[in-house]
Amino acid sequence: MSRISKGVDRTMDSIQELQSYIDKSERIVFFGGAGVSTESGIPDFRSVDGLYNQKYKYRPETMLSYSFFLSHPEDFYGFYHEKVMHLEAKPNPAHEKLAELEKAGKLTAVITQNIDGLHQAAGSENVLELHGSIWRNYCMKCGKRYEASFVAEAVGAPRCECGGLIRPDVVLYEEALDPRVLEQAERRLREADLLIVGGTSLVVYPAAGLVTLCKCPLILINKSETSQDRRASLLIKENIGAVFGQISV
Ligand code: ZN
Repeated sequence: MSRISKGVDRTMDSIQELQSYIDKSERIVFFGGAGVSTESGIPDFRSVDGLYNQKYKYRPETMLSYSFFLSHPEDFYGFYHEKVMHLEAKPNPAHEKLAELEKAGKLTAVITQNIDGLHQAAGSENVLELHGSIWRNYCMKCGKRYEASFVAEAVGAPRCECGGLIRPDVVLYEEALDPRVLEQAERRLREADLLIVGGTSLVVYPAAGLVTLCKCPLILINKSETSQDRRASLLIKENIGAVFGQISV
C-alpha cells in the first residue's frame, strides 16, 4: 500500500471518529478561526501566504489598529476595503454543516474570531463574534447605523450625514473584546459536552485561554500545529471544509 492511500485511510478513520463524537453529543460548541473562512476565499491574516507577508506601506497590525484608524482614516479604509471587507464571500461546507447541527439541536454556539458573517449567512443563529462584524457599522459621533454596502461604496473614509466618521463594529488592534460576548462564550464553553476547534492555531488572545475552560473532549481540526495539540482527544490536520463536508447530521 502506498503512503498516500495510508494517509487517506487515516483521514477516513479520523472522520469516523469525529462522526461518533458528534453523534453522542448534545451541547457541541464550535470555536473557529481564520482557517474556517479561507475555503470561502478570505485570506488568513496570519498564515504563511497571508497578509503579513505582503508588501504594504504599514504593517497590517498597524493599519488595523484603533490609533491608526483615528489618525489615518483614509489609509485605514484603503486597506480595509481592499483586504478585509469580503462582502462577496459565500459560506463553505463547514459553515453549512455547523448551521445544520444547530438546527438539529446538537450545537449550542459557534464562537468565532472571524468578522465576515459567514456563519449567519449559512443559517447559524447563536454566533458569538469575538472580533465583531464587518456587517455592522456606525457613526462615531451620533451612533447612526450604516449598512456594509454604504461603507463598501464610499470613496475613502465613509462619513455620516452629521459629519462624523463611520467605523466598522470590529475589534481593532489596541481595543478590548466585548465583555458580554466573552461572558457568553465562557458560559457556553463551560456547559459544552464536546468542543470542536477549527481553523485556528490558538495563539491569539484570548483563544487558548477560552478553550481550556471546557472540560469535555476537545477535537482540533487545523492544517498546522496548535497550542493545544497535546490536550486534543482527536487531532485532524485537514482543511475544515473538507472534513465537515463528510459529516452527517
Ligand atoms: Zn452621525
